Amino acid sequence: MKKNAVKRVVIAGGGTAGWMAAASLAKLLGKTLDITLVESDQIGTVGVGEATIPTLLTLHRLLHINEQEFMAATNATFKLGIGFENWGLKGDNYIHSFGYTGKDCWAAGFQHFWLKGKARGIVSEFGDYCPELIAAKQSKFAHLSKNTLNYAYHLDASLYAKFLQNMAFEHGAKRIEGKIASVNLCDDSGFIHSLSLEDGSVIEGDLFIDCTGFRALLIEGALHTGFDDWSHWLPANSAIAVQTTLENEPRPYTRSIAHDAGWQWQIPLQTRMGNGIVYCDKFISDEQAKETLMANLPGKPLIEPRVIKFTTGQRRKHWNKNCIAVGLSSGFIEPLESTSIHLIQRSIVRLMQMFPQQGIEQSDVDEFNSQTQEEVDNIRDFIILHYHLTERTDSAFWRHCKNLEIPASLQHRIDLFRETGRVFKAGNELFGENSWTQVMMGQRLMPTSYHPIVDVMSDEELDTFLTQIKHQVDRTVAQLPSHKTFLDHYCKTIGS
Ligand SMILES: Cc1cc2nc3c(=O)[nH]c(=O)nc-3n(C[C@H](O)[C@H](O)[C@H](O)COP(=O)(O)OP(=O)(O)OC[C@H]3O[C@@H](n4cnc5c(N)ncnc54)[C@H](O)[C@@H]3O)c2cc1C
Repeated sequence: MKKNAVKRVVIAGGGTAGWMAAASLAKLLGKTLDITLVESDQIGTVGVGEATIPTLLTLHRLLHINEQEFMAATNATFKLGIGFENWGLKGDNYIHSFGYTGKDCWAAGFQHFWLKGKARGIVSEFGDYCPELIAAKQSKFAHLSKNTLNYAYHLDASLYAKFLQNMAFEHGAKRIEGKIASVNLCDDSGFIHSLSLEDGSVIEGDLFIDCTGFRALLIEGALHTGFDDWSHWLPANSAIAVQTTLENEPRPYTRSIAHDAGWQWQIPLQTRMGNGIVYCDKFISDEQAKETLMANLPGKPLIEPRVIKFTTGQRRKHWNKNCIAVGLSSGFIEPLESTSIHLIQRSIVRLMQMFPQQGIEQSDVDEFNSQTQEEVDNIRDFIILHYHLTERTDSAFWRHCKNLEIPASLQHRIDLFRETGRVFKAGNELFGENSWTQVMMGQRLMPTSYHPIVDVMSDEELDTFLTQIKHQVDRTVAQLPSHKTFLDHYCKTIGS
């Protein structure tokens, strides 16, 4: 392994991944590094990726980002979860919220108490015990001094890249506009030595971050790292994106509406809606998908719909030699649970934690790859869960999803939940017990038993316990203004 000190960092690509990497490295390690980002205006960015998850707040805290300024600059709204419509069966509707549902005890999650209550007929919906979920349903939001809500953002991806770009510049990062024509390797080590641009200029570096999106110019084009194709588990391979006017007040959650061969997203910003359809082109043509999307838009189109093709899967190594793939160059699971920006953030933070200032050590590379793989595999299982648990048999696509063979790790989780009601969060896994429980029950997987500790409570005690939680949730949500009212006071977008 090459032991040259790392001083010059070259970031190839200026989408969300490139600018998140540039802003974070420049702000947090910039004084010791020389950071250059190269991007091509001619190629542009993928132009989607507008729903996030709560972990983004952690990165923003690390970067000292002022929330009001950030939200105003990126047309952002609050997101309390994702509403899934028509996923279990047509007509079904549930929300995977970012909050906690009810109260767990040391031995058993809240679902065990709820299951007994359900059997006794003394409960309301599982989601009624979660403040974020009820606030989402009622389109309410505010920052509370007590019982704060867990939330994330919907944002305009191109405005977010600009926001991060300004931050990167403030901390000394440089931008070069130009198209990368070739990636030059050292003869002896096979490490990347430099990038040659079409105009003949050459950018040398010690460490290269590949943020070139699906093109993966460095990690795959030059280093031939290899790709694990997951389309046998996650068959969607196409999307069509279009922005529309906002006809109603923005809801504080993303909508995911299942159609015959995929699903449609609606991501409300302050002044427009992001929309798209994700599908598998083996089951429906691009033209049919476009018709479905256009027939189900919530507003008037503002741009021409764009088709995006992808293959679900992951690069075999996210860090190979002196190149780290961040963003779509490292792979793509599915936009269903908005995990891509989270994974960008995780790779950047992990890189900073293992930053090879004194030279690249293979042990760091191996650790980085093994941590990343574990994290990504768990997310993959969670996404497959949504498709596989469908009870829809009304179209070839859903029959295919229902019957496909799933990873053994996921089969185990499903069996465990069905037989015992138990869910365990694995290691540093992103999605916790409450996420798994909400999605499994939301898609009609009901456990056949509950933990015996619940029987320690009499029916009256259980009733009181459940009722108190519900009243607390109702009291919390009752204090909240509408999401729109709060946005207008707190972070009205610039130019609206
Ligand atoms: C349909 C769809 C929906 C999605 N929805 C979500 C979501 O809701 N939430 C979420 O977290 N994620 C989502 N994602 C993922 C998200 O869009 C990406 O993770 C995010 O935009 C980062 O993309 P990127 O920066 O890796 O690539 P890109 O945005 O494609 O940027 C690539 C950059 O590389 C540059 N480049 C490429 N080739 C060259 C070259 N030869 N020379 C110079 N520069 C070059 C381009 O100019 C560009 O600047 C979605 C993805 C898809 C496909």
